[in-house]
Amino acid sequence: MNGLKCLICGADRREPLTFRTLLSPETPPGFCRPCREKMAHIIPGDSCRLCGRDLGLLDGKFIRDSVCSDCVRWEEGNKNGCYDRNFALFSYNNWMKEVITTYKFRGDAAIAEGFRADFRTAGRKIIGKDPQSRWKRIKEGKWGAREDWAIVPIPISVTRLKERGFNQAEILAEMIGEPLVPALIRQGDERKQSKKGRRERLVSNNNPFILDETHVSLVHGKQVLLVDDIYTTGATLRRAAEALKKAVPRRVVSLTLAHG
Ligand SMILES: [Zn+2]
Ligand SMILES: [Zn+2]
Repeated sequence: MNGLKCLICGADRREPLTFRTLLSPETPPGFCRPCREKMAHIIPGDSCRLCGRDLGLLDGKFIRDSVCSDCVRWEEGNKNGCYDRNFALFSYNNWMKEVITTYKFRGDAAIAEGFRADFRTAGRKIIGKDPQSRWKRIKEGKWGAREDWAIVPIPISVTRLKERGFNQAEILAEMIGEPLVPALIRQGDERKQSKKGRRERLVSNNNPFILDETHVSLVHGKQVLLVDDIYTTGATLRRAAEALKKAVPRRVVSLTLAHG
């Protein structure tokens, strides 16, 4: 793969020679500056502390104590179960929509490579494998502690997998690394699901996910990091957490590339 061409527009992304590029002559695949600048990074400190939405994009009257009104509704409905919270990297603006559509529906899996470094860093920060928290763990005497996490990608149905050839959530989850646990199975056809309106999806009771019984021991008592491409209403991730409940995880959080 030519690391010097932008994965989205194909432009030359050779940047001026710096100390860093001198030290790493192998340029990892990525995006050119104009393409990158159109992506709206979410700053963790400015995001909803439950769903990861960029609070800067929201009218103040929809925010209560760093929580957006959608999340207040989830909390009030008391439908969270063991699901804790979501982290998201980018706002799902028109540009991200275009990029993710290309990635998913035109089957251009290579685009995901451009997100590898960011996604991996974000994921490993959550599961405590970034150098900083490793240092913290050593100081707290937790070095060498038993693996506490299971990284679970949101599955797509067999039909969709056949059409697309890959599961975008699985590609993202693999970027974070081990311990990857394919603990969920998606039943039925999600096309019917996406045709339903927002409200219909929120109140619908049948869960498209079931627990893969062969992986129960890898989820039991663990913290689970669910991985998906987009957080929309949060219903998908809560359904997934619900399906995992049978394996009794300690807590379930999620990481998505975009929030929108
Ligand atoms: Zn570009
Ligand atoms: Zn929220």
